[in-house]
Amino acid sequence: MAPPLLEIRDLTKRYGGGLFRQPSPPALEDFSLRFAEDEAKITTIAGESGSGKTTLANLALDFIHPTSGQILYRGQDIAEMSRRERFVFRREVQAIFQDPFGTYNPFYKVDAVFNTVIQKFKLTNERSERRRITEEAMEVVGLRPNEILGKYPHELSGGQRQRIMVARAFLLKPRIIVADEPVSMIDASLQMRILEIFRNLKEEYGISFLYITHDLSTAYQISDDIYILYGGSVMEYGDIEGVIQDPHHPYTQLLVGSITLPDPDVRWEGRSASASSEETAAINLNGCKFYHRCPHAMERCASGTPQNYRITPKQTASCFLFE
Ligand code: SF4
Repeated sequence: MAPPLLEIRDLTKRYGGGLFRQPSPPALEDFSLRFAEDEAKITTIAGESGSGKTTLANLALDFIHPTSGQILYRGQDIAEMSRRERFVFRREVQAIFQDPFGTYNPFYKVDAVFNTVIQKFKLTNERSERRRITEEAMEVVGLRPNEILGKYPHELSGGQRQRIMVARAFLLKPRIIVADEPVSMIDASLQMRILEIFRNLKEEYGISFLYITHDLSTAYQISDDIYILYGGSVMEYGDIEGVIQDPHHPYTQLLVGSITLPDPDVRWEGRSASASSEETAAINLNGCKFYHRCPHAMERCASGTPQNYRITPKQTASCFLFE
């Protein structure tokens, strides 16, 4: 049987050494995930600031290294890849970031975005072919090449710039796109357009997404499944319908309680479920991480760490209430 396309096993990341040589709390702890080879999906990683979601994105992209655990791509540990294997990994696992402005060099026309990647990944040497694949990628994301090529970044809208980033990723025919808050700096009216492009890339081209967001409303619109992170640990996992419509973990209930769920047939604008920095800092490091904020906290939660208990075949919650 073919190995999963991407498998993350028990991944933990700690930064630095901590004050007075105390071990620093993990930014991400014992995180596991799988993307199958033959079935594309959109998986959301949701949580507040400091939940570990961007750490996970950076680990999955091999930008930083884990403290422990493994990331396997097509069965191969990415920490042990040969040059050739790493080249393929870097082509097939692409990234889209939050800030479509910061990615551009203001002195170069947007054509350079495509030409650089074509050159770097040796897609073609021929000028006409370069033009053809660039235009194809732009059309897939709904851009008209003759309206975009030859322009400077400041002549384009934020939504157009982010779509160019999606087109740039598509050019490489990736298998997975790691999208870290890709629509949080774009006007609400244009967010759905970008998310619809993601869904189309999944359905038409078999591209999976690791969608990193603090916004449960956009997650609900496009995801297949979702991990809710708090303090670097998974609080709840499941298919998107189950977790959002019937959240079990007290933290998920808090997040879901702060958004307006849409009528699935109606376009809607959701509100972010965010928290103050004080709330984000209130992480219990000795037992359940959510202990200090939990309305159902029990004595045992202060020092005991709950496992991921199964709620339905497709949903788990890390909470003693479901032991
Ligand atoms: Fe609340 Fe205890 Fe469940 Fe943690 S384990 S979420 S503190 S009830």
